[in-house]
Amino acid sequence: MKVQNVELTISAVSPAQYPNEGFPEIALSGRSNVGKSSLINTLINRKGLARTSSQPGKTQTLNFYNIESELYFVDVPGYGYAKVSKKDREKWGQMIERYFSDRPVLRGVISLVDGRHEPTELDCQMIDFLHYYDLPILVCATKMDKIPRGKWNRTESQIRKKLALNPQDEIVLFSSVTKAGKEEVWNWVEKMSGI
Ligand code: GDP
Repeated sequence: MKVQNVELTISAVSPAQYPNEGFPEIALSGRSNVGKSSLINTLINRKGLARTSSQPGKTQTLNFYNIESELYFVDVPGYGYAKVSKKDREKWGQMIERYFSDRPVLRGVISLVDGRHEPTELDCQMIDFLHYYDLPILVCATKMDKIPRGKWNRTESQIRKKLALNPQDEIVLFSSVTKAGKEEVWNWVEKMSGI
């Protein structure tokens, strides 16, 4: 998809604030610092629309990016930042549960993991949660420019195994530095959202 017009429509905390045009939505989730803002900016060919190096744990809102008035990317606040209080963690959990469990226009979730390391327990919990709600999953392993090509296949199978992915869950190895995987991510987005 050729992306020219993108805007942050709303930073929402409650369902009443979600957009209501009925456009398909693709959510993106991952732990803080995994490279989510960089992925979004790569997908939409912008340098800084989605905030990079966001203060971890601070953005407790669902950010809805309108893409060409055809779909929304929904930036889910990052998890796993140690300094977040228990109360904020609970608020985060409630907010994403409300969104993932009851959002008919949600067509799939891009779940990011850091390609340099084994997925964390929180990464595994996120996948379990998405399986529970029967949501289509694309796992996106980030920062793959740091991994030699000869190890990519092994990285992919290790991630699949650790996250206990289902055969229908897809995985893309991605780098916002080299743009590797960008087309594959877009292909999945287009397939899932039917645009
Ligand atoms: P977010 O907190 O998940 O939104 O993560 P950011 O996109 O802000 O990225 C966190 C850090 O990882 C920043 O220092 C980025 O420059 C770096 N980063 C993000 N993507 C990549 C990548 O593909 N390759 C490399 N080498 N660094 C990356």
